[in-house]
Amino acid sequence: MRLLDEALAQLPSGRPATPPDLDQIVCELDAILTYSRRRRAFDGATDLSSSRPVIELAWVNPSESRSLLPRTQGSSLGRARPHHYDARSRFTLAHEIAHVLVHRLGQVSDAPSMLSPAALEKFCDSLAAHILMPEDWFLNQIGPRADLAALRRTSMRAGVSISATIVRCRSLDVQTGAIFLSNSDGEWQMLRAYGIGSPAQLRFGRSAQSSLCKAQIKEVSDCVIEVRCGDHNHELIGQLRRTYHSAVVVVAFIDSDRIPSPKVWRCRY
Ligand SMILES: [Zn+2]
Ligand SMILES: [Zn+2]
Repeated sequence: MRLLDEALAQLPSGRPATPPDLDQIVCELDAILTYSRRRRAFDGATDLSSSRPVIELAWVNPSESRSLLPRTQGSSLGRARPHHYDARSRFTLAHEIAHVLVHRLGQVSDAPSMLSPAALEKFCDSLAAHILMPEDWFLNQIGPRADLAALRRTSMRAGVSISATIVRCRSLDVQTGAIFLSNSDGEWQMLRAYGIGSPAQLRFGRSAQSSLCKAQIKEVSDCVIEVRCGDHNHELIGQLRRTYHSAVVVVAFIDSDRIPSPKVWRCRY
């Protein structure tokens, strides 16, 4: 059995068929969930040394940012369960649950001890993605072509970010690529890229800057954006959705090459 399947088999109710209630998994694992002001948002840690695992997440005051949850009532955390986690907190919690699963597996198998600390963190991310986006459910939701509408719908249903959804697509060999952009002082920059190399490899020219600035806020539109690899101009063809200071482009083609998955597109010239 693959290490991943063995770790998922440590879930008391077995591997979920649909995006699960993480509070229920925390209960089933007899873990304790606490919140700390010492942690940064989206940061978590798990103490596996005591008899019950203690998962600590960042305590976030929603008045600081309304997108940061778990939600609180007044100044203290609401006691009513389930908590409403935002996408990134939900991924953090799933990652910490993964640490508990790996620890349990380590009590009956030597396999997890082979992982280096860095490999363990990557493995827990992968395990978290499997828990939050079960394979059959995910492929059924996303459909044959992972366009922006399918990615947004699936990410909302799984309670995860669009980035996490795109990473999951690529790990399941669904062809998709994307860039995440931010705008500061009227200049668009690539923050993260999936399937098209590192963000530094392609740069926006002036025409791309102005077409990004002209895009309708919060509307999904087809786009052709000119980018430079350093030596040539390339056409990036996809779908764009921008907000005031950020944008996502789900890239279907560069020039006429479909974005491969899970490999990365490279300039052929
Ligand atoms: Zn970790
Ligand atoms: Zn090139």
